[in-house]
Amino acid sequence: MSTVKERLETIEQRVKEACERSGRSRDEVTIVAVTKSVSVERTKEVIDASCFHLAENRPNGFRNKVEALGTDERLTWHYIGNVQSRQVKQFIDEVDVIHSLSTESVAKQIDKRADRVVDCFVQMNVSGEASKSGLTEDEVVPFIEMLEQYSNIRVIGLMTMAPYDASEEDIRNVFVRLREQRDRIQEKQFEHAPCTQLSMGMSNDFEIAIEEGATHIRIGTALVGKESEEMK
Ligand SMILES: *Cc1c(COP(=O)(O)O)cnc(C)c1O
Repeated sequence: MSTVKERLETIEQRVKEACERSGRSRDEVTIVAVTKSVSVERTKEVIDASCFHLAENRPNGFRNKVEALGTDERLTWHYIGNVQSRQVKQFIDEVDVIHSLSTESVAKQIDKRADRVVDCFVQMNVSGEASKSGLTEDEVVPFIEMLEQYSNIRVIGLMTMAPYDASEEDIRNVFVRLREQRDRIQEKQFEHAPCTQLSMGMSNDFEIAIEEGATHIRIGTALVGKESEEMK
């Protein structure tokens, strides 16, 4: 078993090469460590390896990590999971970036409960899989237009998940389509939705995502492994 530090070095190398292949600068891509299935101890190894962007997908897991590590000012806290509106209050005070906004009821809660403007990605379901949440290509622009009334929400970009065991071609197609939607929204120059960023790519597909323009890759198992007994 390699250490988290060694794993991060390997990922870093692969990120750098994907950036070079696609003529992008390394600093356009942020590695977000998904610590949802590992302990606080393992998460500390991520921080010690100098990765300061952490992501959780459940309110409990988020609270657990924030309570243990939240005083570390170097950290940026990402929320990536499906959200129900009644859960927003459990993480809104500490969260820096929400990746999974796709309903008006959640937007309303964020707006009501936040004491500042919160950076959000709007989640899309580009692949159309029934199991995934997120908006379709027809829904996304009206949704973002609707968000204008919620002054504590800034849409910094779009997020999606590619199908897990699809072909490289199908995965790439999902990322291309997300980028096209991002470009289309960015062109509209909404003040509340600059929409310059793309949160896409996970352990098994982050290089394709970078080649197609990802600005945030969300890496779990490739970086921290799995500690299923600690799962919460
Ligand atoms: C779990 C999760 C990830 C990380 O997945 P890995 O395959 O472990 O890298 C990324 N994004 C979301 C939304 C997740 O729920």
